[in-house]
Amino acid sequence: MSKRDYYEILGVAKGATKDEIKKAYRQLARKYHPDVNKEADATEKFKEITEAYEVLSDDTKRAQYDQFGHAGPTQGGFGGFDGADFGGFGDIFDMFFGGGGSRRRDPNAPRQGADLQYTMTLDFKDAAFGKETDIEIPKEVECDTCHGSGAKPGTKPETCSHCHGSGQLNVEQNTPFGRIVNRRVCNYCNGTGKMIKNKCTTCGGSGKVKKRKKIHVKIPAGVDEGQQLRVSGQGEPGVNGGPPGDLFIVFHIKQHEFFERDGDDIYCEMPITFSQAALGDEIEVPTLHGKVKLKVPAGTQTGTNFRLRGKGVPNVRGYGQGDQHVKIRVITPTSLNARQKELLREFAEISGNDVTEQDDSFFAKVKRAFKG
Ligand SMILES: [Zn+2]
Ligand SMILES: [Zn+2]
Repeated sequence: MSKRDYYEILGVAKGATKDEIKKAYRQLARKYHPDVNKEADATEKFKEITEAYEVLSDDTKRAQYDQFGHAGPTQGGFGGFDGADFGGFGDIFDMFFGGGGSRRRDPNAPRQGADLQYTMTLDFKDAAFGKETDIEIPKEVECDTCHGSGAKPGTKPETCSHCHGSGQLNVEQNTPFGRIVNRRVCNYCNGTGKMIKNKCTTCGGSGKVKKRKKIHVKIPAGVDEGQQLRVSGQGEPGVNGGPPGDLFIVFHIKQHEFFERDGDDIYCEMPITFSQAALGDEIEVPTLHGKVKLKVPAGTQTGTNFRLRGKGVPNVRGYGQGDQHVKIRVITPTSLNARQKELLREFAEISGNDVTEQDDSFFAKVKRAFKG
């Protein structure tokens, strides 16, 4: 089986930064982690992306890979996996669901709560200028009745007798290749290492309840599509006294009917009449910062661009402000009345119909094209 390209596996460009690689990996690994994804090929996919990440996140290995591809000096690929033993993925698991010791090794160690993600749809102008708002997110909070222990008040959780509190079980398997030991999450206590005889009736023994929590957020001016804002400590509560996770707000920006945005710059198209284009005029252009006067010189062609400096979007990191680019579109008049027609005919008569007299290399090209 030929191996897929590591960059392709992670869906990143060849020149991707370490951050981009890490982000892509985290997203994919979350999706395909065998503890989460029960599809048949999830394990294979997870191994594939993890291998790709191991290589691309390591400068030396990446350079080697870029130079030699899969057939690099270390023959047989990089990293390598114990296939059957997912216990080895403890580190990765912690990376997503909080640090502080592998939950597989010690279920009683403090663990950081999970991060939460919230997608916020913003109006075009709110994204440009920022705003303060309250959001409500459904999140798990510690159960008030049992204070997170999951046991009925007055009782205590007991150590799981199957895994003796370790939260995992070793399952031995004889295969043609020898004996393989699989470490699995203890299914009696779900990896917590504890058994609750008298479950708290409020939370059903989980120690957590779902609540909608209101959070006040300050959105900085200049946020763009897909950017994230981290609100630290507003994720899910920690376990065994660990710190809470973070909340990530991902922005989705609504389209504007007139403005288009590219980074900090704004683009728009302004229609002007045929006579304004020919004679020149001062027009008013809407910007995010209010109306701005723009001088259109006589003889302006359709497609001409003007730049209004500093009329774009404030940079989200505070590096100044973008510009607004105005593209002129000359509108050919349609429903003309008799008098207008008469004047235009007269105009045509005096100007002649041969535009090449007045201009222009463009018309010269057209003329040559006709001649073949
Ligand atoms: Zn409870
Ligand atoms: Zn157990």
